[in-house]
Amino acid sequence: MKELLDFDDNLSEQDLEQNGIENELLEDAISQLIKAIGENSQREGLKYTPKRVARMYSELLSGYHVDPVAMINGALFNITYDEMVLVRDIEFYSLCEHHILPFMGRVHVAYIPDGKVLGLSKIPRIVDMYARRLQVQERMTRQIADFLRDLLRPQGVAVVVEAVHLCSMMRGVKKHDARMTTSAMHGAFRANLATRQEFLDNISRGASPLQI
Ligand SMILES: [Zn+2]
Repeated sequence: MKELLDFDDNLSEQDLEQNGIENELLEDAISQLIKAIGENSQREGLKYTPKRVARMYSELLSGYHVDPVAMINGALFNITYDEMVLVRDIEFYSLCEHHILPFMGRVHVAYIPDGKVLGLSKIPRIVDMYARRLQVQERMTRQIADFLRDLLRPQGVAVVVEAVHLCSMMRGVKKHDARMTTSAMHGAFRANLATRQEFLDNISRGASPLQI
């Protein structure tokens, strides 16, 4: 059985234990779901589905138990730099809490330091911490901005999230443009129109259409 699971399985046993998800309960729930649909849960293709799906959710929903201090891991630097730091096009995948279907897209993050900067590779990790939860896009946007504000105490922070939602694309009357944009602004980005505009110009420059 191990072999059957391995092909799409990126998690070690240790990862599974650490993320606090009740794996057996999840497997039972997926079995129940398959039965409720009226499918034969013992047929070849579905036999190991509860196990696979449980492990998949353990990965996709691993953001609840991330220790932010361990994640930042000393990548905070004192620096006298007070221009805008911009990281655009951070890819993310999340699950909407209303339908447990994926929404995905890009996050753009900017901040103006006030003595402290964060190692560049940490910003996508912060995005993942909030994306790998049951989410709504508006809250995820706000959480990323608030986290950076509290961590860096910058002069300002701005987060824009562009995403497509499978729950609106797959269901009912299919909407061709299911793209949604949300933003959260603090400090200089909220108070100063020119700063906000500089950020928005920057992220729209050369932007390619959101693809899935
Ligand atoms: Zn939804």
